[in-house]
Amino acid sequence: MQTVTVPALGPELLLEELGEVRVRRLQQIGEIVQQAMGTHMQLHVNSTAAGGGVAEMLHTLLGYARGAELDIRWMTIDAPAEFYGFTKQLHHTLHGVDVGLDPEGGRELYEGVLRAQRDDLLASFQPGDIVILHDPQTAGLAEVLVEAGARVAWRCHVGTAHQNNNTERAWAFLRPYLKGIPIIVSQRAYLPDWADIAETFEIPPSIDPLSPKNMDLDPAFAREILQAAGLLSDGTAHMVTFTRRDGSPGRIEHAADVLQAGPPPPVDAQLIVQVSRWDPLKDMAGVMEAFARYVYPHNDSHLVLAGPNVSAVADDPEGAEVLQECMAAWGELPAAVRRRVHLACLPMLDADENALLVNALQRVASVVTQKSIEEGFGLTVAEAMLKARPVVATRVGGIPAQIVSGETGILIDDPHDLAAFGSAICGLLAEPAWAEELGRRGQQSVSEQFLPDRHLQQWAELILHLVGPAEST
Ligand code: UDP
Repeated sequence: MQTVTVPALGPELLLEELGEVRVRRLQQIGEIVQQAMGTHMQLHVNSTAAGGGVAEMLHTLLGYARGAELDIRWMTIDAPAEFYGFTKQLHHTLHGVDVGLDPEGGRELYEGVLRAQRDDLLASFQPGDIVILHDPQTAGLAEVLVEAGARVAWRCHVGTAHQNNNTERAWAFLRPYLKGIPIIVSQRAYLPDWADIAETFEIPPSIDPLSPKNMDLDPAFAREILQAAGLLSDGTAHMVTFTRRDGSPGRIEHAADVLQAGPPPPVDAQLIVQVSRWDPLKDMAGVMEAFARYVYPHNDSHLVLAGPNVSAVADDPEGAEVLQECMAAWGELPAAVRRRVHLACLPMLDADENALLVNALQRVASVVTQKSIEEGFGLTVAEAMLKARPVVATRVGGIPAQIVSGETGILIDDPHDLAAFGSAICGLLAEPAWAEELGRRGQQSVSEQFLPDRHLQQWAELILHLVGPAEST
């Protein structure tokens, strides 16, 4: 297993975003949890330190928790590609999609890989410590941890409210590992019917307003960042430097790998942006088709579909395949449409650089989309809303918990309705004042509901539950 280093982030850093009352409350929560935990520590275990929403969130939340003086650690498992192939299938099946999962066929591989983590894991905590396991990849570690005296909970970041045979099959696979373990989900509706209500928690995710992904960027600087990475062009070269959170200097030095017919969009182009992993459930190909059929004919906008460089996300073996499919679909577009559709693989060699590229893309976008077929929560939606961007997204999973359609963004009821999706985008592009108003209201809503203080307060409640009344008084 690998240990991930998490630098502490003092809650006072959030003063400007949260205000004094909320920051003080955050500090008090830290004190309460610290007292309840005594000499014990909290260990988080997941499958990857970079790429995807879970890693993103852990960097932030664990950082603020450490800033509040809590003893928190983070470890990732070591697993071969076939393990991630299986858990990716499990992930899709938990979303209700039939991908031919053979649960019993995969059980031996799954348990064998997790058994191999045992020694590292057991050497990493003391009885009484709290261990939070994240996602299906780590659920099978619960038993060994409990036997060794850890207080364990399992946080599932995926799920759907539309339970069907597939979700039942995936949950049936996980069930033996979760006996007596509190389960945390983003929405209660994602829970299987056998979950013990007293041992379940609903904790929606949050985003960090100060991370390189979300921090305020001057619009001109955002454009320069994108120019330096080859995502926008004004025909000149750009050298962009920035300061990292730890104060060290950084530079945008890796270009994005972009499939496009001609130059990148001009700096003043109206951009429609979707940032997602290359995953079938994010439906990048559907965004492209909707753009080609229903947006391209009505304005001069460009579409940028951006995802991580596919070789970089260890637990996402499907990425390359989905990207290939998108590239093939791009190749089938009429030549004129192709000139306005850009498929970008963002460099992942430097996490801050990658985050700044995402930030800049979301910030300069005229419209941000999230056309998911299923979605656990959809951090990209909150990220765009925090930047006051108007968002067009599908009414699936956690997205409607973030957007009130027509007030703080636009929701498309049927994720396969390309015409409605395209028409919502065109409406926003045609009416910038309305788009701005939606964006502004979206920003306000995210600031109230999806920032780290709300999230840490709910974590604190979970920790107090795990520690138990005797020690938490
Ligand atoms: N992301 C990123 N770089 C990329 C693509 C995505 O940093 O090239 C981030 C994105 O900004 C968001 C997260 O990955 O923070 C994706 O989280 P989300 O909940 O939207 O979807 P998930 O990938 O967890 O299904």
